[in-house]
Amino acid sequence: MEAPGLARSLDDLEQYQGHDIGANLASATAIELQARACGDIVLQLRARLVRADMEQRNGDRGSAAQVFLEVRRRAQDLGSRPLLARSHFHLALTYNYLGDHAASLEHAISATELLEEDAAPGLRVIYLLRLANALGDVGSITAARERYREAEQLAIAMGDLHRRLQVLNNRAYTEFEAGELAAAATVAERMRVVAAALGRGFLIVERDTVANIEIALGRYAAAEQTLLSLVETPLWYEMHDLAEAILTLARAQRGIGALRRAQQSLDRSRALCEERELTGVRVAVMAEQAELYAATGAFEQAFGEYKRYHAAGELLRSAQQEARASTRQVMFETAQARNDAERYREQALRDPLTGLHNRRYVDDHLPAAVALAAETRSPLTIALVDIDHFKRINDTLSHDTGDEVLVAVAEELRAVQRTVAETGFVARMGGEEFLVVLPGIAAGQAASGLEALRQAVASHRWRPVTGELPVTVSVGGTATLGDDAVPTLLADADRMLYAAKNAGRDRVMVLATAA
Ligand code: GH3
Ligand code: MG
Ligand code: MG
Repeated sequence: MEAPGLARSLDDLEQYQGHDIGANLASATAIELQARACGDIVLQLRARLVRADMEQRNGDRGSAAQVFLEVRRRAQDLGSRPLLARSHFHLALTYNYLGDHAASLEHAISATELLEEDAAPGLRVIYLLRLANALGDVGSITAARERYREAEQLAIAMGDLHRRLQVLNNRAYTEFEAGELAAAATVAERMRVVAAALGRGFLIVERDTVANIEIALGRYAAAEQTLLSLVETPLWYEMHDLAEAILTLARAQRGIGALRRAQQSLDRSRALCEERELTGVRVAVMAEQAELYAATGAFEQAFGEYKRYHAAGELLRSAQQEARASTRQVMFETAQARNDAERYREQALRDPLTGLHNRRYVDDHLPAAVALAAETRSPLTIALVDIDHFKRINDTLSHDTGDEVLVAVAEELRAVQRTVAETGFVARMGGEEFLVVLPGIAAGQAASGLEALRQAVASHRWRPVTGELPVTVSVGGTATLGDDAVPTLLADADRMLYAAKNAGRDRVMVLATAA
């Protein structure tokens, strides 16, 4: 398979929704090998992440975490944002398994921030879900709901009912864990509607969510019903999910007083835990066993089991702590990742040729600059600066020379802007047109400030760059006290620029206003 085909298959795998782990593991391994053969290192490492993720879901957690950390380091060396986003995404789940919710949240935030704008919507949905779950785990239920809603909107836009159900299931569980039972029940109801539209029953994780909510509402018989056909269900599951669901079934059965059935279910869950070394669920099984002993009147056994549960819980917590400590450096690396995210965001707002801010930055920041002027009742001058006869430079010299001129003009504008105003910025609006923003400069001072810009360009040593050809700019400016809309200001500046061009170029025109 060629690299594009490989990338597509990998896209699908990355949007893993829990299908056959063994098959996914095999596909990821195959893609990894082929990507290596093609020499596509990023693709190879992305496949490596998927492979480790599948291993992690199969219970092999320690080595998966090592892989995620290693790939994260490679991603930084390679400067690969997609790879970085994916490493953080997987680390978020690792820390969730470790019970370290703060670290999990940090990674989930970095992952969503770093995810490419044009990433597959399905991938964005699961990143948002991870973030929402992590927010829920640290108790930020309102922020979590916002992300769930965003994820659900995306799933709706995709027309993907499976994903929508996945979002609802995660949300229902988070509401349940936050003790928001009414909200949880409402979401569970919506889960039924979507599952019906899909024409399928609930998956194991979904059954477990719904049953937990039913138990919390005291509806034990309904919960048992929800979980009964668990083993027969042909739908996919992870061992961890199955063990947990069977434990929930035991709790429902104890609730209705079916103590023998409850014991059978509990034994099944315990056996699975031991077979698969599912420590977390195993501890929860002990707690339920103690309850069950007590329900049958076997108080001495209940007490013995409770003590074992307590000791195992302690052990689990200290194992988790140890795991956290051994990856302590990751906390530091997370801070690093935040910087990366900021740098990438910043890069998206800069023009790569001149290093100036770009049009997007203007859209983001000019309204704030105008609002600040209004709040502080201080003036603000903006100007559009356009290189004169720039086409001539490109045509008679070369496009590269044109680029060099752009860089030099950008430098001059930036230097003057800083001298004239304490704050503000210069942006490249596109082509050979720039925007200069001068806070604190009123209409009266605007002309002289902008004249400094014009002069700086005209008096630059152009000879080494353009030979005989002069380089000049025309400037159109306008000032405000913050009470003009941004589009109006830009249109005014543009009109003045046009006037400067018409009047012969290499000059400054400022709109006469009261400001
Ligand atoms: P005027 O004085 O009326 O502004 O004339 P002009 O030639 O400067 O204006 P015009 O808009 O006709 O041409 C602008 C040219 O700028 C056309 C385009 O090819 C060139 N250009 C746009 N972006 C770049 C760039 O990044 N690098 C280079 N070298 N040229 C660019
Ligand atoms: Mg021009
Ligand atoms: Mg132009």
